[in-house]
Amino acid sequence: MRITREEMVRILQMHDPPVTNKLVLDAMSRVPRHEFVDENLISRAYNDSPLPIGHYQTISQPYMVAKMTELLNPNPHMTVLEIGTGSGYQAAVLAEIVKKVYSIERIPELAEKAEQNVKKMGYQNIVIRVGDGSVGWPEMSPFQGIIVTAGAPSIPNSLQEQLDIQGKLVIPIGPMEFQVLQVITRLKDDFETKQYFQCRFVPLIGIRGWREGG
Ligand code: SAM
Repeated sequence: MRITREEMVRILQMHDPPVTNKLVLDAMSRVPRHEFVDENLISRAYNDSPLPIGHYQTISQPYMVAKMTELLNPNPHMTVLEIGTGSGYQAAVLAEIVKKVYSIERIPELAEKAEQNVKKMGYQNIVIRVGDGSVGWPEMSPFQGIIVTAGAPSIPNSLQEQLDIQGKLVIPIGPMEFQVLQVITRLKDDFETKQYFQCRFVPLIGIRGWREGG
């Protein structure tokens, strides 16, 4: 069944827990997800499921994109770092809300395609680079939010350290098979960790993630 973007946004509000943040729901209604998938997948672009983008990677499920964005508590003054650019869709959703998005992708071909996607759509506030995002982007820190769209075995210290005070790191943590979505908030002298629900992401591969090949 072909689902429209409007229907997809309604479905996001019916999940448990639902997506309720208006800024996030409006961003999800504005970003054309069909522009971020291959032509042969366009009919499924607004289904609430991940889709392949090549190189054994996926564009995440719309619910996960919306929920992770909501958990950042985004506002127009924020600078956000995304790890795992993939198609560029999550970066575009963030760019609709926040001031600036830095995004790192380890696979050069995906980074290049994502760059083309966001340029074509006219986003001026997204900067994409190729590299190992598990170590973050210290030169551009501190970030008011960091979102990791790949599963990590443990919380990378490097990312926590690049958070601003009150900044949030949203990251799936756990074994390769499944993870738990966690939100780490930087307090003045400490970090606070909250656990949300179970999820399943492709692995974060890098110095502070999994080793290539498992
Ligand atoms: N956010 C993406 C989107 O909107 O299309 C989906 C991301 S996909 C689920 C995860 C991505 O993380 C993949 O493209 C993968 O290559 C990338 N990745 C894995 N480890 C990484 C690392 N250490 N640094 C940067 N990117 C990484």
